[in-house]
Order: sequence, then C-alpha cells, then structure tokens
Amino acid sequence: RDPAYRITEEAVRRALSPVALPAIIDVRYGDERDERAIRAAHVFVAGRLDMGMLSAWGERLRIVHCTSAGVESYMPLDWLPPGAVLTNSSGVHAAKAGEFGLLAVLMLHQGIPAYATLQRQHRWQRSLSSTIAGRKVLLYGVGALGGAVAERLRPLGLDIVGVRRSGEPHPAVGRTIRPDRLADELADTDFLILACPLTPETKGAIGRAELAALKPGASVVNMARAAVMDYDALAGLLVERHLSGAILDVFDREPLPETSPLWDVPNLFITPHVSADDPHGYVDRCLAILAENLARQADGLPLRNVVD
Ligand code: NDP
Repeated sequence: RDPAYRITEEAVRRALSPVALPAIIDVRYGDERDERAIRAAHVFVAGRLDMGMLSAWGERLRIVHCTSAGVESYMPLDWLPPGAVLTNSSGVHAAKAGEFGLLAVLMLHQGIPAYATLQRQHRWQRSLSSTIAGRKVLLYGVGALGGAVAERLRPLGLDIVGVRRSGEPHPAVGRTIRPDRLADELADTDFLILACPLTPETKGAIGRAELAALKPGASVVNMARAAVMDYDALAGLLVERHLSGAILDVFDREPLPETSPLWDVPNLFITPHVSADDPHGYVDRCLAILAENLARQADGLPLRNVVD
C-alpha cells in the first residue's frame, strides 16, 4: 500500500500524546508480530488485522482499531479476545466520498460514461440533457459516506430518498425508508447510489430484479462493496440500454483483472477504488478516532465507532 497509509511510531505518538493516557496503556500497531509485546498490549491498531494473531496473543487487549470503514473481512467478531472491542475508521472518508458522489451523479446525468464509450468508437453523437433539479436519487446507506453525498447533492434540488437499516430520518435527505420498502422506490429512481456496508443483509441486495425495476434510463453508482450488487445483471442491463450508465469504484477482485469483461461494458465507467480515500493525513484522521476513544475510555464514556 501507499506509504500514506502506513502507521508509524511517529504518527501514533503525535496522535496519542495529547490524550491523558493511564500509564498502563500499551499501544501496538501496524505489522507488529512480537508475541510478548502483543500479550502486553491494551490497544492494537492496524490497516489489516491478523485476527488469528490477536485472538491467540491479545490477552490484555481492550481496543482493536482498524484504519478502514469496511469491516466485512473481520466478521463475525468471534476472534476478539474477551473484553476487547473492534472500532473502525468510519467517518474519515466522508469528505472525499461526498465529492465523488456529487461528481458521479453529475457525470451520469450528463451522459459522460456514454460519451467515453462513443469516444472510443470515434463517434460524435449529441444527446442533450436538461438540468438535474427534480430527479430522484435513491441512496442505499446514509451513514458517513452516504450522508456526505446527500449533503452535496441537496443544493441541486434533487429528490433524495435514503435507505437506512434503522429507517431514521436524516437531515440531508428528504425521506428515509427501511430496506424492506426498497421495491416501492425503484420504478421512479433516476440515480441509485450504494454507500452501505457489506453484511449478510446487504449482500446481493441489489440483484437483477432490483436493477431491472429501476426507471428506464436510470444509472447507478457503487462506492460500497461489489457484492452488494449483481454486476453481471448490471452489465446485461447496460448492454440492453435499460440503464443508461454506471460508475463502479469497488470490485470483488481488486485490482480488477485485465481479463474482466466489465472493462468493455458500454457506458460503464470504472474507477480503481479511489472514491473515498484521501491520502493526505489519512492515518492521522484514523488515529484521532482512537485518541478520542482512549480519552472517552479514561472518562468512562461510551466509545465511538464500535463495530457490533
Ligand atoms: P456507516 O456505518 O457510517 O453507514 C452505513 C449506512 O448503511 C448507515 O446509514 C446504515 O443504516 C446503512 N445500512 C446498514 N445496514 C443496512 C441494510 N441492511 N440496509 C440498508 N442500509 C443499511 O458506514 P460508512 O458510510 O462509513 O461506510 C459504508 C461502507 O462504505 C463501508 O462499510 C465500506 O464497505 C464502504 N466504504 C467504501 C470506501 C471506498 O473507498 N469506496 C471507503 C469507505 C467505506 P443506519 O444509518 O440505520 O445505521
């Protein structure tokens, strides 16, 4: 990975020094594989967690912090040592993801993926679109990522409907529904944006039936995880022109293999998992969540970003 994502001793010191840590707190990080050190650690922080190592050696662990928002590869949490919690870095990607979501919707509305396809064919084919106000966005997941996308889309006068597990209202979306009401919303949706975690409930949630039920000419964006959507069905509906475009940032296998048929699907725009990572100060922002949690723990307050 890019050095911007490496957790260094200096970054840990910088982030945690302002926190009034009780002397007993021992923080280990990164690729540490020293069994004795990990047995002594109260906190472990890493970009990729070695769950077997932590469950075998992490006798004193209280917080395991990961520098990603997606935690599907760490589920179920049966590997966590007794008394420890897993916290994630949800929130650090929000600003960049918000900008990407805005860009993606405007690109799809203006038919840019279709123009990219036409450009490869050396074809000049105009298709004028009107302004975007009044179109409907269905935002699947309105957490850190989805909320930031909604905030940036709202000034465009779009009708934004959010799908949340809780169904709770969200200030940046006009209306919120629970996932079991999804089918009622598809037929008049212009833009479907995925920004939910990959869980047993969301895996395959946007299958062939859901994609086919979208309004003819609708388009989709996936910034979540590939397994939430059926990409074969998506490709078929793009070829048939039922859907007018798609922007995919996440794939089952990354890097996407050169041989993947997705590269050549018309009106499909591929970005290599870049929609939400801002390398500038990334580790510092992740460690700031950990620092806040250590301060909260010392004050007996509930921790942020606990994965359950
Ligand atoms: P959050 O936990 O902040 O938000 C998740 C949202 O999804 C919440 O609104 C939640 O509902 C909703 N949700 C959860 N389960 C369901 C469900 N079964 N049906 C419908 N909605 C559901 O996470 P983030 O916004 O930080 O991240 C979301 C995901 O995005 C990550 O898990 C990761 O997979 C992916 N990601 C991708 C990145 C990229 O570079 N492309 C970068 C960062 C994250 P409720 O509000 O009710 O809890």
